Amino acid sequence: MVMYDHIILRYGEIALKGKNRKGFVNSLKKRVKKVTTDFQDLIVTQSFDRMVIKLNGHEPEPVLAKLKTVFGIHKLSVAIRADHDLEEIKEKSLELIRNQQMNGIKTFKVTVKRPYKQFPHRSQDMNREIGGYVLRNTEDLTVDVHNPDSELRVEIKSDGAFISCDHSEGAGGLPTNQDNKVMLMLSGGIDSPVAGYLTMKRGVKVEAVHFHSPPFTSERSRQKVEDLTRVLAQYGGDIRLHIVPFTNIQKMIHKEMPDNYSMTIMRRMMMRITERIAEQTGALAITTGESLGQVASQTIQSMNTINEVTNYPVLRPLISMDKIEIMDISRAIDTYDISIRPYEDCCTVFLPEAPKTRPKREHANKFEKYMPVDELVEEAVAGVETIIIKEKEDEFNDLL
Ligand code: ATP
Ligand code: MG
Repeated sequence: MVMYDHIILRYGEIALKGKNRKGFVNSLKKRVKKVTTDFQDLIVTQSFDRMVIKLNGHEPEPVLAKLKTVFGIHKLSVAIRADHDLEEIKEKSLELIRNQQMNGIKTFKVTVKRPYKQFPHRSQDMNREIGGYVLRNTEDLTVDVHNPDSELRVEIKSDGAFISCDHSEGAGGLPTNQDNKVMLMLSGGIDSPVAGYLTMKRGVKVEAVHFHSPPFTSERSRQKVEDLTRVLAQYGGDIRLHIVPFTNIQKMIHKEMPDNYSMTIMRRMMMRITERIAEQTGALAITTGESLGQVASQTIQSMNTINEVTNYPVLRPLISMDKIEIMDISRAIDTYDISIRPYEDCCTVFLPEAPKTRPKREHANKFEKYMPVDELVEEAVAGVETIIIKEKEDEFNDLL
């Protein structure tokens, strides 16, 4: 067994952001420290394009698992450190490649980088030396510079040589900028948690709003939404969840509005209320889990009619995705098993079998004249209950 003693994180996209880089790297480092607090004595250092974590005796796997939830990290490598000594570097490189051979690799290449120029060997020479040494001491292994099974990277830094060949993908995206906030409309379904994840991935902070219609929707369905929010908090940190009492509005719609427009009008009411909450909390856009054409209510006509009531940007990260792709993401981010728990959705309790698939703005406006829209919105907003879903359940609140 190889004793890995470091993990190297590469930022990818951040490196492109010029002047903003410092802020990005700082938020990334904060997040890295936060998700690894349970591992004592880790040492995190950062440079221009990467961070290095000294494991100080911890196994790499559990630390890696945590780091894979961090947006802004594009590649992760487990590494061993060697002194500035070519013989030691060659020895440890060989050890790593042998370990990779047990995983079935047949081809490799060596990439040496030498930011620390005081080290007396040139990268090109080391490439050849290390590659030759590995080849002489192994069997069934060849060099493939274009498409190797394994890339052996050697980076000569001022504090030592870092050798890695086991690389994996990070979560990608951008680290969270606390100043960019978006209001996620979170149901208990499969789609909206995925939409929330993808929104956070672009470096924005998310708050969530959920419409709840007790007693038609139960404590269980509320619990489900809290559990989904907690999973999302693993990626972006603590999340404020606004629970909106929606029963009166549902009843009113059911009683006063034509059946085939009740879905459209319900969505318009949700959108108005969400915008109000966004306004109060400083969120600048709204995210939904809508995807075009997936169900009857998600036609372009329907979106047009629902969107009329807000002039906030409505982000729809799933717009072009197939259900299969959405389900794959939801499994990968661990929301799927919660989303498929049975529950009553406020939308299904009251809704007709056949909502209008091509609603029109003018009709919606006409029908809504028979309902005290503003008062209903006011009342719902006044009744909002805001809770904080902690990334870690046992921590104190530092968000309110
Ligand atoms: P999901 O899987 O997210 O429930 P869906 O495919 O069931 O989506 P709809 O039921 O048409 O689609 O809902 C469209 C979007 O409206 C949802 O993705 C979500 O963003 C929002 N939404 C629906 N119901 C609620 C609710 N009770 N609370 C908050 N937002 C909701
Ligand atoms: Mg739904």
